[in-house]
Amino acid sequence: MYHSTGVERQRGEKLVSVVEKEVENWRKILVTGNKKRERVLVSGMIDKETGKMSKLFTSFTTKEIRNKRNVEFIKGLHPNLKKRLKEHLERKKTGVKGFNLEDPDVLKYGWKGIDIDEIVPHAEFMALDDLLKQISKNELPDLVFERILGYNSYLQKEGIMHTCLDCFYLTDLITFIK
Ligand SMILES: [Zn+2]
Repeated sequence: MYHSTGVERQRGEKLVSVVEKEVENWRKILVTGNKKRERVLVSGMIDKETGKMSKLFTSFTTKEIRNKRNVEFIKGLHPNLKKRLKEHLERKKTGVKGFNLEDPDVLKYGWKGIDIDEIVPHAEFMALDDLLKQISKNELPDLVFERILGYNSYLQKEGIMHTCLDCFYLTDLITFIK
């Protein structure tokens, strides 16, 4: 549970209601279980201080990845996230407890210069990127992450969705509403 008071609480509640509305919209469009499974979740973020809210994101579809939407996204990353991603990929390369380095899924470590084709960012990472850009296009002090509330909602069934191990690091210092 996320506990807070006053304006912050209202902002958290607003985020949850906007994300849940989007989940309802997606459920009408994605009628089969497979389609829902592909998009996985809806993620959004809000700045507790200013009330600025990110756009809402789902996972990339196979078709979007085939069209290199992931590469396009990674190239335009906010400076703070570019830094975080590089550090994260380095960390994965050296091995971190809990990572299965054989796992072909998600954010594979492949940051060799511009070899970024294999990095598939997740919805919460995209929401974070969008919100940071709304706050400032330039690099921000790391404290900015502590101002941010995130919320993930699962498309297939009712319920929140926890972040994966990659997003756990990439969204460090953010509070997720559970
Ligand atoms: Zn993730």
